[in-house]
Amino acid sequence: MDICAPEDAPKIKCLTDSSIFTATPASDGTLPPAQVVHLAVRKNLSALALTDHDTIDGIADAAAEAQKLGLDFLPGIEISAEFPHPGTMHLLGYGVDPQSPVLRDLTKTLLAGRDKRNPKMIAKLNELGIAVTMAEWEQEAKGNVLGRPQLAAILHRKGYVSSVKDAFNKYLGQGAPAYADKERLSPQRAIEMVLESGGVPVLAHPIQLRTPNDAQLERIVKDLVDHGLAGIEVIHSVHTPADIEKCDALAARFNLLRTGGSDFHGTNKNIELGIANGRRIPRQWYEALAAAVAANNTRAPR
Ligand code: AMP
Ligand code: FE
Ligand code: ZN
Repeated sequence: MDICAPEDAPKIKCLTDSSIFTATPASDGTLPPAQVVHLAVRKNLSALALTDHDTIDGIADAAAEAQKLGLDFLPGIEISAEFPHPGTMHLLGYGVDPQSPVLRDLTKTLLAGRDKRNPKMIAKLNELGIAVTMAEWEQEAKGNVLGRPQLAAILHRKGYVSSVKDAFNKYLGQGAPAYADKERLSPQRAIEMVLESGGVPVLAHPIQLRTPNDAQLERIVKDLVDHGLAGIEVIHSVHTPADIEKCDALAARFNLLRTGGSDFHGTNKNIELGIANGRRIPRQWYEALAAAVAANNTRAPR
C-alpha cells in the first residue's frame, strides 16, 4: 500500500471530508497503527478510531501519530460477545481509557480466551491432514494478537486453499471443520466493562447478528440499551442501504449515537480505509461520539 511520508502529510490534509472507522492492525489487520494514521490523512479523513479485537496495544502509536499529523483520534476496542450461532455480536468500546485497570482485566480475559482456542484449531487442522503449527501462526502474527486471518494466510501460502476467503469457507469460518469457539463475555458484562473503562459501548455491524426478523433485532438492541449500550453502528462495509436504514431507525428509536466504520483490515480484507461500501461517515457522528466519550471519561473510576 502506498503510504504518505510524514513530511507530505500536512500538505494533503483536508478537513472537509471525514470519517470515523474501525481498523484492526494490532490484532488482525496488516498495517502498523502509525501507518494507518498516515493512510487516513492521505485519504482526507479528519478522524479515526482504532478498534482492534481484544487489544489496545496499537493505541499509543496511533494516538501519537494522529496528534503529530492533526488527525482527530479515538482509542477503542472491539469485543466478541456471547451470541448464538450463526450470528456474531461484536461490541465496540470507543474512547476507553488505556490506563484503566478494568480495561487491562478485559484485554487479559479476551486474550486468554483466544489462547485457549487457538491450539484447538491447530489440532483440528492437523487431524484434517493439514500441516500447520502454533509456532508458524505465532511467526505469522509478528508479535500481534493471533487471529484467524493470519492462519488463513498461512493455509493460502501453503497451497491448501485458493484464497483467505476460501480458508474461512473450507476450514476456519464458524461451523467449518477446523473452527473452535472462544470463551466469550456476555454482552452485558462487555458493556459494563467498557463503561467502567471510561468508554462508550456501541453495537458493531448489527446485521451480523443475523437475526431472523426485525422484531428480534429490535428486542436484542433494546436489551443491550437496558444494559447501557450507547450507540449503534449504522454505516459499515457489509451494510446494504436497507441495513443502514434499519440501523438508523433503531438509533432514532432508542436514542442511540450513530457510528460508522469501514472495518479496514489492511490486506486481510478488500476494504478501503474510511470507505464503507462506497460511503463515508458523517463528521457530525464523530463529533457526537467524541462528546459522549469526553463526558464518560470524566465519570469513569480511575
Ligand atoms: P478471530 O478474532 O481470530 O476469531 O478472527 C476474526 C476475524 O476473522 C474477523 O475480524 C474477520 O476479519 C475474519 N473473518 C471471520 N470470518 C470470516 C470469513 N468468513 N471470511 C473472511 N474473514 C473472516
Ligand atoms: Fe477484525
Ligand atoms: Zn466486528
